[in-house]
Order: sequence, then structure tokens, then C-alpha cells
Amino acid sequence: MPHYFIRFLPLIMVAMILVSCESPQGYMGPASRGLDALGHRPGPIGFSTVVVDAGHGGKDSGENARRTGLVEKTLALDMARRLKSELNGSFRVVMTRDSDTFVDLDQRVREANRYGNGVLVSLHFNASSSRIAGPETYYWRVDSYSLAKRVQRNLMASTDYHNSRGLVRRRLRLTRNPSIPSILVECGYLTSPKEAKNIADASYRSKLARAIASAIREQAAYGDSGMGPLPAPINAPLSKHGDARQ
Ligand SMILES: [Zn+2]
Repeated sequence: MPHYFIRFLPLIMVAMILVSCESPQGYMGPASRGLDALGHRPGPIGFSTVVVDAGHGGKDSGENARRTGLVEKTLALDMARRLKSELNGSFRVVMTRDSDTFVDLDQRVREANRYGNGVLVSLHFNASSSRIAGPETYYWRVDSYSLAKRVQRNLMASTDYHNSRGLVRRRLRLTRNPSIPSILVECGYLTSPKEAKNIADASYRSKLARAIASAIREQAAYGDSGMGPLPAPINAPLSKHGDARQ
């Protein structure tokens, strides 16, 4: 061993220890990436892509309201197209389906994950055997809370259904599994006679699409600002088929 090496050995060892302890800000190891993937971080700001997901499709009709003839998959696609045209110009809009085709939920998640600087907005219509009515917005991740809250607030402001269940934290495949902020909007109950009549009206659906689009623009401009404290993170496994109503 050369003499100079032995002389500087303690210094070399200290340097090696320092290099192995990266600064907390610079640390991007598996653990912190994992928490990011779980959405344990502030909500998005300045994002450029919106993945618009029309619920159901093809062999999966979603909810059917027999009395009114309204079919969820058809209305969801109609809403997705309306939302896309509201967002065009402000964002790159990606549709997970743009025809009456079946797309598996896990495939939708994979598609959303391709757009790191994006958010996922899944559009559905609801059904219930009780007399409940009104739009509801679902989220799970911390980074999806403000967007969900803004969407629900705007939907409430532009409809008459002020006593809906509103903002709901629920672990679904489309709220838990993507690695980008993701929300699921139940635009209204097909089983409520009054609401179904509204939903059947194209101008009402346009109004809903405008409300959702303006919430997305607000989120992109202001992030979590003004939305109050964020909810606590919850570590939960991926949502799988059969976990809950999707
Ligand atoms: Zn649905």
C-alpha cells in the first residue's frame, strides 16, 4: 500500500461515509418514490395533461335506469367529450376511450400512468335504490383532495342538489392505483326521476362539463391554495377487483 494512501485513509473513510448519507432534500430513494406513488404529497399545480376517462363501455354498460332508458356508458362518453372540448386549448387531453369499447380498469390505470405531469378524471353516473340524488366526487390520495374538492364545489354551485353526499374519500381502482392525482366524478343519479330528467338534457350535461373544467383550471393555477388542510395520508394496498363498487 503506498505511503500517501495510509496517511489519508481516515480522510477517505470520512468522505465515503458522507457520500453514503445523501442530504434529505436530494434523497430520491425507493421509499420516497413509493410515498409519491401513493399520493402522499401536495396536490398538483401547473400540470399540462388531463386524462379524461369515460366510465364503462362496450360489454360493460354500467348503470341502467330502466324507467328512463338512460345508460351510464353512453352518458359517460358524452360527458367525456364535452369535458374534452371545454379543456382543449388549455391542456393536452387524453381520452382512455372515445367509442363504445370495453377498457379494463387496470388498463385505464396504466394509460394514466404514462402522463407524469397529468391528472386523471374519471366520469360516471350513479344509481341507487334509495331516493338519493346529486353529484358526488371521490378521491383517495392526498394529492387528489383539492382537485376533488374544487370539482365537487363547482358541481354543487351549478346544480340544485345541495344535499348530496358530496366529497367522498373512497379507495377504488381509479382513485388509489394510478401514480398521478386521480378523481372519480359521479355526475348524478340516473335513478332519481328529477335528476334523470336533467341528465337527459344536453345543456345540463354541458353545464356539468363546464363546472368540472373550471375546477381543473383552478387546480392547475392555484394548486392546494385556499382549500384548507390536506387530509392525512393513508397507507392502503392497491384496490383490486371486488374491493368496492367502482
Ligand atoms: Zn360507473
